[in-house]
Amino acid sequence: MGKIKEIITKFVAWLLPEYKYRYAEDFPESIKENTVYIIGDKRSPWLLAFECPCGCKQIIQLNLLKEADPNWKFKVTNGNKISISPSIWRTTGCKSHFFIRNSKVDWARSRKRFSNK
Ligand SMILES: [Zn+2]
Repeated sequence: MGKIKEIITKFVAWLLPEYKYRYAEDFPESIKENTVYIIGDKRSPWLLAFECPCGCKQIIQLNLLKEADPNWKFKVTNGNKISISPSIWRTTGCKSHFFIRNSKVDWARSRKRFSNK
């Protein structure tokens, strides 16, 4: 029973990826997929890290420190959903541009791997 539930959960996660979040004091040794790591002191974290949702396997790191530019903000809602603002636009690699709102990826433009180039 547990195994079937696990398979279904994985399948749904694959269809509709939804980010979880977890706090980490230090940069984690491995980044699990669909997980946003909130790194640093819980009350004043300085970095977000997560795997790019496009499937390129690159780790995206977003600075949370207001003194640095650019910087991002995150918000935890409904107890377990995470939103990040502003949008995330990779200037290298896959060049994905997306939002994370209520743990869901909202693509600002089509994924590069589906284009002809
Ligand atoms: Zn990517």
